[in-house]
Amino acid sequence: RPRVLSGIQPTSGSFHLGNYLGAVRQWVSLQDTHDAFYMVVDLHAITVPQDPAVLRENTRVSVAQLLGVGLDPDRCTLFVQSHVPEHAQLAWLMNCLTGFGEAARMTQFKDKSAKQGSDATTVGLFTYPILQVADILLYQAEQVPVGEDQRQHVELTRDLAERFNHRFGETFTVPQPYILKETAKIFDLQDPTVKMSKSASSPKGLVSLLDEAKVSAKKIKSAVTDTDTVIAYDEKEKPGVSNLLAIYSAISGRSVAELVEHFEGKMYGALKTELAEVFVEWVTPIQQRVNLYLDDPAELDRVLAKGAEKARAVAAPVLATAYDRIGFLPPV
Ligand code: ATP
Ligand code: MG
Repeated sequence: RPRVLSGIQPTSGSFHLGNYLGAVRQWVSLQDTHDAFYMVVDLHAITVPQDPAVLRENTRVSVAQLLGVGLDPDRCTLFVQSHVPEHAQLAWLMNCLTGFGEAARMTQFKDKSAKQGSDATTVGLFTYPILQVADILLYQAEQVPVGEDQRQHVELTRDLAERFNHRFGETFTVPQPYILKETAKIFDLQDPTVKMSKSASSPKGLVSLLDEAKVSAKKIKSAVTDTDTVIAYDEKEKPGVSNLLAIYSAISGRSVAELVEHFEGKMYGALKTELAEVFVEWVTPIQQRVNLYLDDPAELDRVLAKGAEKARAVAAPVLATAYDRIGFLPPV
């Protein structure tokens, strides 16, 4: 079974539709065909300021959400990143193999730091992609199921794996991104030219899985479209409508072509109203399952303890090999 590894930040508690459709939905389906490792990346979350109590709560909510959407701890390894210290340890090695200019070319850092100003931007945010390299390489992952915005970081991972292997001998598996075209990038409902994002979307443009369903329905109904009237899929000319069609298609399992036919002769309002209904029907049982897990903290703890143990069993020997190859004296 090929190995997959991916992670999600606990920065805002609720995941949004982009997280789910771009990444987490694939995590669920890969459980049965792959040896799957999934984590809540709390080390990544602290690259921007976090309130400790809120971070703790959001980490639990993230785990409950992953279980609620269908991750099964008997079929995958689900854990919290900080429970496996090898992530930070391998990240240091990778930091020392990465060029400063190479790291400075990461577009996500450029975007995020531009919004913050340089004094508010942490060095952690700058080296975040390198921690992500360590996350992936520690598990010898062959595939990394992520959204399109992570493609450049997986490319950096490939470069660093090859660099390490070339300098110190075959050590790391060189991974491939696993990105589904249809849902690779879900856009902000208020600005359908930028990705829906935990940290950057306007509240009205962001559909959170755990928001009250009628709040999300209202956001969908007030999504920005265009001045034309024909419901058609055209990412360039009709980004808003195309985004709604992509979301509708992914949630319902009906193809975009089928939906376009279904809406022939109808107005944008019909698409929005119907999608809002489909969304509410889809998200309600998910919210109920998430709440069941949140009401059982002992079960969450059990899941995470088992996950950390399974993850460390893979990560520790890989880190030990990397330490040895790089020339560290074995501990006595
Ligand atoms: P932030 O803005 O703080 O980076 P985020 O919304 O990007 O948060 P992450 O936890 O960084 O959320 O990403 C988790 C996963 O969701 C990643 O695989 C990422 O590629 C994917 N993802 C995030 N936003 C989208 C989107 N708009 N469309 C598709 N996939 C997305
Ligand atoms: Mg992100």
